[in-house]
Amino acid sequence: MSGGKVVLVTGGSGLVGKAIETVVLSEKRTDENWIFLSSKDADLCDYNATKKLFEKHHPTHVIHLAAMVGGLFHNMSHNLDFMRKNLHMNDNVLQISYEMGVKKVVSCLSTCIFPDKTEYPIDETMIHNGPPHPSNFGYSYAKRMIDVMNKAYHEQHNCLFTSVVPCNVFGPHDNFNLESSHVIPGLIRKLNDIIQKGGNTFTVMGTGKPLRQFIYSLDLARLFLWVLRDYDSVEPIILSVDESAEVSIKEMSQELVKAFDFKGEIVFDTTKADGQFKKTASNEKLRKFLPDFKFTPFPTAIKETVDWYRKNQSIARN
Ligand code: NAP
Ligand code: GDP
Repeated sequence: MSGGKVVLVTGGSGLVGKAIETVVLSEKRTDENWIFLSSKDADLCDYNATKKLFEKHHPTHVIHLAAMVGGLFHNMSHNLDFMRKNLHMNDNVLQISYEMGVKKVVSCLSTCIFPDKTEYPIDETMIHNGPPHPSNFGYSYAKRMIDVMNKAYHEQHNCLFTSVVPCNVFGPHDNFNLESSHVIPGLIRKLNDIIQKGGNTFTVMGTGKPLRQFIYSLDLARLFLWVLRDYDSVEPIILSVDESAEVSIKEMSQELVKAFDFKGEIVFDTTKADGQFKKTASNEKLRKFLPDFKFTPFPTAIKETVDWYRKNQSIARN
């Protein structure tokens, strides 16, 4: 292939990276050469190792997914690590992309980095409007700096470095580790273990009342490809399901119970943290570009993820 894009995906072995790989493989385009990286290829916290990796592949485009990522409880106990590792990785990837003349970088923020005290729905203009929720301030400030850096690279060097802001993501290849996972993979793992042991009480942490927008990783992957190919602004864009698709942790847990056909009861451990009550994000900007984009119905996406986990337990990140 000559003259086409060489797309380097950092964090290519993770939840979002694997979903992008699945969609790319299903398309069979010949004008794009995709390279999916994991931490085994290089520790992106290390400038020299990162530079070597870029010199090996000479990307024209970068999707920067690599990050220290985790659920509420992992963030609460590791704010410093989340901040430092992500600041280092982001600084190296953006600076080396600039040094190597990469044409476009798409990095990843998250709706959980938005201000804690805010008006709803939250939109792209509100990212820096006040402190994030204290539970994940390390991750949040590191991620917010990507937007600041994108603007600085644009102002000083005219780079097209942009970012997307996904809501809570789930799907095949997620991190199902009970200590560090987000809520959906954590509860899938938990419920699967309970069923295997013949238990009949499914304990969900917190009150079950917080509200979340959840996006299926394969839907997010399709949106990522659109951003890479067709969204040419430095300004961030929220990639989220509609506001009407927001569900409570309780409703989401009931959907898991259905997908597993679990006959026991759900109990809420109210001694555990709820985190931010809601982060309702507006996808109005996305809808202006893609008014007809169809998200996979939540029950279908949950069922596919549960089925994937049951089939792939031995290779899943547990
Ligand atoms: P993930 O499944 O935990 O994957 C993380 C990826 O980053 C893995 O490929 C991992 O490589 C790589 N990585 C971690 N540390 C690295 C290092 N020091 N050097 C090189 N690579 C490193 O995460 P994800 O859920 O796919 O998240 C992808 C992006 O989406 C992240 O930027 C995250 O902040 C953002 N995001 C995620 C969510 C969510 O709900 N999951 C929501 C909003 C935004 P190994 O596999 O080798 O460890
Ligand atoms: P967030 O969306 O960024 O807050 O992160 P999570 O995906 O970790 O979701 C946290 C929400 O799910 C909080 O309201 C938690 O109380 C609730 N939750 C219930 N059970 C669990 C669990 O087993 N793991 C996690 N991570 N969260 C849980």
